[in-house]
Amino acid sequence: MSKNQNKLVELTGVELIKDRSNYLRGTIVEGLADETTGALGADDQTVIKFHGTYQQQDRDLDKERKRQKLEPLYSFLIRIRVPGGHATAQQWVGLDDIANELGDSTLKLTTRQAFELHGITKWVLKRTMQRINDVLMDSIAACGDVNRNVMCSANPHESPVHAEVLEHSKLVSAHLTPRTTAYQEIWLNNELQNAEPVQDHEPIYGKHYLPRKFKIAFGIPPRNDADLFANDLGFIAIVADGKLVGYNVAVGGGMGMTFGNGNTYPRLSNVIGYIPKEKVVEVAEKVVLIQRDNGNRTDRKISRFKYTVDRIGLEWIKLELNRQLGWDIEPARPFRFDSNGDRYGWYKGTNNKWYLSLFIEGGKLIDKENYPVKTALRKVAEQLKGGFLLTGNQNVVIEADSEADKELVDQILAQYGVKHAGDYTALRLNSIACVALPLCSLAFADAERYLPSLLDKLDVVIKRLGLQDDPILIRMTGCPNGCARPFLGEIGLVGRAPGRYNIYLGAGFDGNRLNKLYKEMATEAEILEILTSLFEDYAKNKLDGERFGDFTIRAGYVVATTEGKDFHQNIGEPKKINFQI
Ligand code: SF4
Repeated sequence: MSKNQNKLVELTGVELIKDRSNYLRGTIVEGLADETTGALGADDQTVIKFHGTYQQQDRDLDKERKRQKLEPLYSFLIRIRVPGGHATAQQWVGLDDIANELGDSTLKLTTRQAFELHGITKWVLKRTMQRINDVLMDSIAACGDVNRNVMCSANPHESPVHAEVLEHSKLVSAHLTPRTTAYQEIWLNNELQNAEPVQDHEPIYGKHYLPRKFKIAFGIPPRNDADLFANDLGFIAIVADGKLVGYNVAVGGGMGMTFGNGNTYPRLSNVIGYIPKEKVVEVAEKVVLIQRDNGNRTDRKISRFKYTVDRIGLEWIKLELNRQLGWDIEPARPFRFDSNGDRYGWYKGTNNKWYLSLFIEGGKLIDKENYPVKTALRKVAEQLKGGFLLTGNQNVVIEADSEADKELVDQILAQYGVKHAGDYTALRLNSIACVALPLCSLAFADAERYLPSLLDKLDVVIKRLGLQDDPILIRMTGCPNGCARPFLGEIGLVGRAPGRYNIYLGAGFDGNRLNKLYKEMATEAEILEILTSLFEDYAKNKLDGERFGDFTIRAGYVVATTEGKDFHQNIGEPKKINFQI
């Protein structure tokens, strides 16, 4: 039944590296011991991604270091898995210590509800992995051609259902975690390194793992804060009489594309049916197996599951899923999402605990002059019994077990001058940005270190027009790989070159419609002029309750994107704005 075209294909590139890696060992141990360079070998740079770490270099310093005849300033990021985004207060303190002592002191909250540590040199990489293990966390499969961190809607006010869905997301995550012992062997357990070669095996993945990364998210309507449709596989909670009964299954989402390659495009997943909740792990595994056996392993640009779905067809995927399960999934049940952003401020859960959603700009936790937000959150973590929930929008939800804890949190945050949602425009509260320059090797432009200053300028316009309380999704990335899901931004800004961005408009506020290219290679002056004009039109002519993305389509700025394959179609001349810059 498999439509796999790969079985007889000669292995090349990353597939060959995986094949030779002996279940993700490669020569990482030898590379770590090599004192002549701060880098790892080329193949190991691929293998190490499966361990949750990427080699980076500070691109800002490349020229100067070359002039001094030094190798680039290499360091590593470590992405720490947080299934469902749920971390304890003790883990928060532990990671804060690790960032301070071994990294560049920042903690990045990612768009997949994970933590990232940056600036880890090769010399302390192993020690850092061990410290992460000490706080009962790990980074295995946070990157690489495997199932990544499983996301879960962070809306604890729906607590009874949320708690159950969170548990399911953890079960799926655990079930799809690679079984190789390479991670323990390399990072945690020295004795094993000199033992006889290990006869490892991967019951789900096999020795070549998946053709490409795989992402899973759980959503609980009406909030789509995990941006479920951007994932290879999504589970939409179906609730009856206040109880979780099952999930609608959505397949084939993914953000990334390559500029100039029309065969690549962002795509949103399609709902193919409903399953009882008890079957969720089984269904997740079978969908992963379908991609393992049918995904493209010769061209990584079209190897994500979304391309498999479009190449083979949704109907075949569904039939194959039914065949592998041995039972048929049911017709999808009704559901409705109304937003994909976060809910801010304090709210009480149905478990009588209190939750505070806090905006963290760009997910970047760092102490700035006059704004020591990282220290403030550490103080909160030191004194709280409750936990922390990372959201898919780079924010954090603080859990307070009691009214007394709630007051304590308020006191600490006030003491350190931490701002609340009301201090920001709704545009900024709905902004996300990826790491990009200078650390990301794929970046063409800045994102997290530029978007705040762009928003300072846009905020002036927004306030002048009285739009400061209108939530508008704005997302920026340094390249089209889409880590901050820019193609689901009502305004998407995607880096093309330093200081130049493609502008995309018209995504759905509920995360269920992609945007469309409006202008290429825009400078900051052009971005400001275009968005100012659009905001002016929106303020004047929006219908009651009309979202900005819907407005840009109704007003004729862009044509709605109806499916991934349509993303590059129907791109007209930018309308209505006179470019006089
Ligand atoms: Fe790097 Fe591109 Fe991802 Fe941004 S979107 S972090 S630039 S790969």
